[in-house]
Amino acid sequence: MQKFGYNSDFLERLKYNNDLVSVISKYVHLQEKGNTYWGCCPFHHEKTPSFAVNSFEQYYHCFGCGKSGDVISFIKEMESVDFMEAVKILAENANMELPQNLFDENLIQKKKEKETILNALKLANSHYINNLKNSNIPNSYIKKRGLSQEIVNKFELGYSKDFKSLVDFLKNNKISYEIGKNAGLLNEKNGKFYDTMFNRLTFPIKNSFNEVIGFSSRILEENKEVAKYKNSPQTIVFDKSKVVFGVQFLKELKNQGKLNEIIIVEGQMDVISMHNAGFTNAVATMGTALTPQHAKELKRFSNKIVLCFDGDSAGQKATLKAIETLKKDGEFDIYCVNLQDNLDPDEYIKKFGIQKMQDEIKNAKDCFEYRIRNLSNVYNLNDKLELNKFIKECLNIVLEIKSNSEREVYLKLIREISSVSTEVLKRDLLNLEMPNKIIKSKEKFIPAVLTDNVYKSQLFILSSLLHKKSYAKFIEINSFNEFAFQSIYEYLKLCHENNKEPIIGALFDEIDSNDKELNKIINYKFEGDEIDAKYFNDCVKILKLDNLTKQQTLYTNQMMQAKTLEERKEFAIKLQKITKEINLLKLEDKID
Ligand SMILES: [Zn+2]
Repeated sequence: MQKFGYNSDFLERLKYNNDLVSVISKYVHLQEKGNTYWGCCPFHHEKTPSFAVNSFEQYYHCFGCGKSGDVISFIKEMESVDFMEAVKILAENANMELPQNLFDENLIQKKKEKETILNALKLANSHYINNLKNSNIPNSYIKKRGLSQEIVNKFELGYSKDFKSLVDFLKNNKISYEIGKNAGLLNEKNGKFYDTMFNRLTFPIKNSFNEVIGFSSRILEENKEVAKYKNSPQTIVFDKSKVVFGVQFLKELKNQGKLNEIIIVEGQMDVISMHNAGFTNAVATMGTALTPQHAKELKRFSNKIVLCFDGDSAGQKATLKAIETLKKDGEFDIYCVNLQDNLDPDEYIKKFGIQKMQDEIKNAKDCFEYRIRNLSNVYNLNDKLELNKFIKECLNIVLEIKSNSEREVYLKLIREISSVSTEVLKRDLLNLEMPNKIIKSKEKFIPAVLTDNVYKSQLFILSSLLHKKSYAKFIEINSFNEFAFQSIYEYLKLCHENNKEPIIGALFDEIDSNDKELNKIINYKFEGDEIDAKYFNDCVKILKLDNLTKQQTLYTNQMMQAKTLEERKEFAIKLQKITKEINLLKLEDKID
């Protein structure tokens, strides 16, 4: 079995050399009680420890927030990196070489280039910071903007005083023009190199490892001839469509267990103003619309997002677009702030104060309400035709919501705005929904009650086997409905065949630690009537019956499509056998 090009042998050695307890101990203070180590969860804020680390089975589980995983997923979470990066960190930690086949000459060359560029950017940053300390011009702007010294230090604000001094500085530090250019720091005109950020206030853009990957800069005196803000060009370390400005602070907050939601504002200067006012969870994209890559990056830290764009119509448009992008991901809780008087966050805080801004964030509207209210401004609701259009668009938004009680909330809101009664709205909603429902019901012909039982049975059987309940006996089953179920089953089967005890920590090699089904199984609560052999056997029966019924349907279809009499006979015999087995199982049920 391979995962992202690493074979299971390598991953097993990697995990063996990175004992979970000692790795976690670097981040969390753990106390041993019995076979388990306990500490305060690093993934949610808590005062009494509910984060358990099982040393024997090499997995952790938080009884507060439900997060669990192995040593690789722990590093993924704590360092907010992907699988590959986590493996690299752990390999370095254990002094292990990564498998050679991953490292061709090309990659080594690229890695070297990346390191030189990061080094050049780091040096340039120190140069700019020094310039700021020794110059008065940019400081008057900083004062005008009301930024504290703490914020200037936190964001490492700097100053590029002219065309040439960075060029000389890099040369003195033995950094070639070529590297300077590839890092996006220098440009060339008529054979001469110059600093691309000249005469501007600079802010470094960092990744979540706190490395400088580029710069953003702002002019100090208003000048309509030049752009107010300027960003580094695309380089091998800087990709605008991915970079989240302020991401390093999110990681810090998350690791302290202090991050609830992420506030997204429009520009870098807004981020700095928000932090200056105490909103240390504010970030921004780099002057581009929110992309799916941004969404992916943000999800590493939190899936609750508050969009706090400028209050003008451009800001509202950007909000709607961002909602669309985030919704596609499907896992975000999205809230929106609509700042009054067309103000941006900085202007708003200056005009109304920090407390009022806190209220705005706290009372942010969920994205459904935001969209409905936004539509009510688009249409003239006194005009009948426009009112109809408004209602239809609103109901289409309501259709995205699955729960009926939640729908009720928005139907009431639409009633309030439009004065159309909830009964009428419900009927319209039903009409809109019908065509979708019919298509859906054609796709899934299995009754919901039955599928629910099958699902629960699979959950219980696999949980019992994995948690080594005395009544749980390994069973041969043809198929499971969920990817995680099937993977866990295959792992159990392997253990069974090799006479090995299953270990929960081993599952994370095959299944993503965020997988819903996997988490349900790891956190399975064995309660009440369930904990006996009879219940286990009943579940096995339900599952076997489900498997047989599926086979029955398959053979029936194949028999109908069979071309020769011979073939048809063959399937008929198979069908007979299966029907017999089904009847036998059902009969057993009655005797029981
Ligand atoms: Zn937790």
